[in-house]
Amino acid sequence: MNITARSIAGVGMTSQRTRDRMVDRLRDRGIMDESVIETMAQVPRHLFVDEAMATRAYEDASLPIGEGQTISQPYAVARMTELLLADGPRRRVLEVGTGSGYQAAVLSRLVDGVFTVERIKNLLDKARNRFKALEYRNIHTRYSDGSWGWASNGPYDGIIVTAAPRNVPDALYEQLAIGGRMVVPVGGKFETQSLLLITREEDGFHESRLADVKFVPFLSGKS
Ligand code: SAH
Repeated sequence: MNITARSIAGVGMTSQRTRDRMVDRLRDRGIMDESVIETMAQVPRHLFVDEAMATRAYEDASLPIGEGQTISQPYAVARMTELLLADGPRRRVLEVGTGSGYQAAVLSRLVDGVFTVERIKNLLDKARNRFKALEYRNIHTRYSDGSWGWASNGPYDGIIVTAAPRNVPDALYEQLAIGGRMVVPVGGKFETQSLLLITREEDGFHESRLADVKFVPFLSGKS
């Protein structure tokens, strides 16, 4: 079945009712931003995983998407989106690590434009096809190592990183607008990673450590 037929099918484990149960669990876990909840109740997560995984798409788990990568768990997507949007609307958001495209899809319903960068061509091509089929036209994609950000469209009033670097790349600091917010997991593959919220004010950057998290590693170069 192609992506359109699958979205129309929308039955059983991929139905609206399953999606509603997923967002109920997000509320139970403390997600409070209703615009995030409503968006996640609408975006068809099962279309962002391979067909064989579709029935598991609404579990609160990360799932393999090929190339050793994973689609982030719904709770992580909800929490990071909520953190990014807290404190007022974000017009332009940079995402590093497109992966399946699900996080970008959720964000695209909540901000003016999403600029998303991925270093694995095969994953990016699949994500692009999904955006096209779903007619998410305000998502702009780029095949690149996200260590460099995407300077030509910056500065961004939101930056979200969905793989964990050891240290936040300088380019991402530089491309964050004053008044902007960045949500990024940091830490090595075998260390405990921390989710950081970095804000940029007139007087410089402010950083807070929010939670222990587990993300795939941030890698350099293209593949
Ligand atoms: N946001 C994705 C999560 C995918 S996992 C989703 O919703 O599905 C993280 C992704 O980050 C992987 O696809 C990985 O290839 C990508 N990644 C890791 N290091 C990167 C880098 N330096 N530049 C761009 N993408 C990177």
